[in-house]
Amino acid sequence: MSPGSPRRLRQLATISVAELKNVGERRQASLAEMGITSVFDLLTVYPRRYVDRTRRVDLSDLTVGEEVAIFATVHKVSSRRTRQGRAMVELTVRDEGESLTVIFFNQPWRDKQLPVGTQALFFGKVTDYRGRRQMSNPVVDVVVGVSGLERDPSHVGRVVPIYPASGKAGLTSWEMGGFIDESLRRAGEFLDPVPAHYLEDLGLIDRTTAMRGIHLPPQWDDIAIARRRLVFDEFLRLQLLLVLRRARLEETEAGVAHDVDLHALDVTPGALATSGASLVHRFLAGHRYELTGAQRRVLREIFGDLASPRPMHRLLQGDVGSGKTTVALAAMLAVLGSSRQSALMAPTEVLAEQHVSGLRRDLDGLMVEDPSVLGGERPVSVQLLTGRLRAKERQAVLEGLATGAVDIVVGTHALLTDDVRFAALGLVVIDEQHRFGVEQRATLRDKGRAHSVDDTDPDVLVMTATPIPRTAALVLFGDLDLSVIDEMPAGRVPIVTSWCRSDEEVAGVWAHVRREAAAGRQSFVVCPLVDGSDRVEAASAVEERTRLATHELAGLRVGLLHGQMKSAEKDLVMDDFRNGELDVLVATVVIEVGVDVPDATVMVIEDAWRFGLAQLHQLRGRVGRGSHPSACYLLGEPPSEDGETRLTALVGSTDGFVLAEEDLRLRGEGTLLGARQRGRSDLRLAELLRDRDVLDAARNVALDMVARGGLSEDVIDELRLFVDEDEADYLFKS
Ligand code: ADP
Ligand code: MG
Repeated sequence: MSPGSPRRLRQLATISVAELKNVGERRQASLAEMGITSVFDLLTVYPRRYVDRTRRVDLSDLTVGEEVAIFATVHKVSSRRTRQGRAMVELTVRDEGESLTVIFFNQPWRDKQLPVGTQALFFGKVTDYRGRRQMSNPVVDVVVGVSGLERDPSHVGRVVPIYPASGKAGLTSWEMGGFIDESLRRAGEFLDPVPAHYLEDLGLIDRTTAMRGIHLPPQWDDIAIARRRLVFDEFLRLQLLLVLRRARLEETEAGVAHDVDLHALDVTPGALATSGASLVHRFLAGHRYELTGAQRRVLREIFGDLASPRPMHRLLQGDVGSGKTTVALAAMLAVLGSSRQSALMAPTEVLAEQHVSGLRRDLDGLMVEDPSVLGGERPVSVQLLTGRLRAKERQAVLEGLATGAVDIVVGTHALLTDDVRFAALGLVVIDEQHRFGVEQRATLRDKGRAHSVDDTDPDVLVMTATPIPRTAALVLFGDLDLSVIDEMPAGRVPIVTSWCRSDEEVAGVWAHVRREAAAGRQSFVVCPLVDGSDRVEAASAVEERTRLATHELAGLRVGLLHGQMKSAEKDLVMDDFRNGELDVLVATVVIEVGVDVPDATVMVIEDAWRFGLAQLHQLRGRVGRGSHPSACYLLGEPPSEDGETRLTALVGSTDGFVLAEEDLRLRGEGTLLGARQRGRSDLRLAELLRDRDVLDAARNVALDMVARGGLSEDVIDELRLFVDEDEADYLFKS
C-alpha cells in the first residue's frame, strides 16, 4: 500500500491479512475459518454491539435470579478441580470496589483468557452460593485485554466495539479489534466513490469517517451515523447492479410493440361487442365478473409495457385470491390480439393442469381471427405441455406451437426445453415465481429469444404466490418494474381463522367439516410437513386419510393427494374434488399454491406450526374463493414461541401484505433473501425492516446515476468486487 492516495475497496481486497503485524500462520488460518482472508474482509466484520466502558452496574445491587450484564475487571484468578474432578476456574471481578465471584466449570482455558487486569463483560444469571452472590458459566466478552500484543488499549475509547468472535477458531473479539485497528490505520483515507452532492442531499457522512466511526466510535451517536452511511453503500451497490442489469437488457433486447387496445380495459360484462372489437374487449364483455379497480390499474401498466417496443420486465404482486390469474389472462389475450403466442409457466404440474382447465373455461366461446381456416376464425387454443405428455400428444402440441395453431401454452419450467419452437412468442408469464431466482429469470429470457422465429425477446410478467414486503421486492426483484393489486374482488366473505388446541375444539372442527359436506361443500385437510421427505410425507397422508375416513369423517367421501402419486392419478382426484364427487381432500402441501376450488369452504391444517407464515397464508387462500363463509382451522401445539407467534399472526390478520412484513420480522431477511443474495451483494449491516428509508434513497441514487449514463471508474471498480468476470464484462462494457 502506498501511503497517501485514498484506498479503493478492491485494493484492500487484494491485501492478505497475513501482512498485518500480529497475524501469523495460526491466526491467518483462524481468520480464514471465519471467511476472512483480506484486509477488506476484516474491515467489513462489523461489531455485533458496543459497550460503554463508563456505564456501571452496581454490583452490590444485584438480585439473585436476575440475568445481568456486568462490566468488570478481573482481580483474582485461581483454578482447581472439584471433588468430582471437574475443572473449575474461579475469578474475583471488581467494579468500583464491589466484587463478585465468577465460576467456570469445565472451561479450564478461562484462566488464560482472563488474566488479572482484563476488563470484560460477563452475561449470566446471578446465583447464591452459601450466602454469597456469584455467576456461573457466564458468557464472556473481553473488552480490554492485557496481553497488549493484540491491541493497544489506548486506541479504545469510551465506547468499545464487540466483534463476532469465534470460539472454534480461537479468536476473541479483542483480537479482532486489534486486527481491525491496524487495518484501519494502514488503510488511512478511503476513496469515496459516491459523488458528494448525493451525500449532502441525504445527510450522509464520508466513507473514511464512517469506517472509523463504526469501528472506533468516539461517542454513541457516532455509531448510528456511521452505520447509516455504510448501509447506504451496501444498498447502493446492490441497486446499481440491478438497475445496470436492467439497463443493459433494454439496450440489447429487441422487443415487440404489441398493438393493444387500452380502451378495452373499461369494458364491463354485458357490454356490446361489435364485430371489430378487440379480443380483450370481447373477453371482458362476456366475462363472469367485472375487473376490480386494482386489476384494471395494473393491466393499464402492463398494456403500456406491451405497447412499448421495449420488452416488459414486470413483477405482479397481489394477495392470494386477488385475481392475478385473470390479469395474466387479459395480458395474454392482448398479445394474442396482436398475433403473438403466450407461455404460462406454473411451479407444479397440478397447477399447470388447473390453469389449462381454468383458462379454457374462461375462454369458452371466444374466437380468434385465423385466415387459414374456413370462416376466418377459430376458438382460442390453450394447450398443456408438460414432461409427462405422451410422445404423440407432445408432438401435436409442438407442431401447433411451431405453426401458430396453439395460442397459449401452459406448463412447468420444463416448458422451454430445446425442442420447443414458437411461431411468434410474445409473452412469458411466470406464476408463483419466488421459488425461482434471478438466474432462472435470465435463462428464461434467453430461451424465450432462442425460441422465437424472428429473434425478438418476449415480454416477461412474473407473479408472486404471496406478497413479499416492498423492501424485499426491491432487493430480490429490483431489476423488474412492480405492479401491485391492492384490492380484493368484491363480495368475498372473510375467512374466519381459529387455532384449535383442545380435544373439544378439534372435535368441533370435524363436526364443521361434516356439516359442510352435508350442505354440498368441501374441505381440505393438510397433513404435517415432513422435512425433506416426500415419501414419508406421502405415507403420513395415506395414514391420516385412512384414519379420518374410518373415524372422525366416516361416511364422507374422502380423497387423497400427495406428491408421490402419478400425475394422472392426481388429475383424477383433483377433478373429482372440483366436481364435488369428494367431500374432503386429505393432502400434503402439493396443494399449497394456486389450487382453485370455489366450493371449498374449510381448510384444516394439522401441526400448523410446522409451516411458514407465507405458506400458511397461501394454504388458507385455498378457501374463501366463493360466496359461502369459509373457515381455516389451525391444529397442533407449537413447541416453540416462534410457532406460537406465527399462528397468532395468522389468526389476527388475513392481509397478505401485513403478514409478509410480520414474516420478515420473525424470520429476518436471511431466509427470505437466502442463497439468492449471496455473491450478488454484500448486505452485512443492512436490515430490510430497519433501513427501508435508506434502501429507497439508494434505489433513487442508483436510478439517477445510471440514467445519467456512464458510471464513474471509481464506482465500477468497486462493483467489480461483487460480480464475477463474465457478468462484469456484460455490465461494464462501454
Ligand atoms: P390469485 O392467483 O391472485 O390467487 P386468482 O386469479 O386465482 O387469484 O383469482 C381468485 C378467484 O377470484 C378466482 O376464482 C377468480 O375467478 C376470482 N376472481 C378474479 N378476479 C375477480 C373479480 N374481479 N371479481 C370477482 N371474482 C374474481
Ligand atoms: Mg394464482
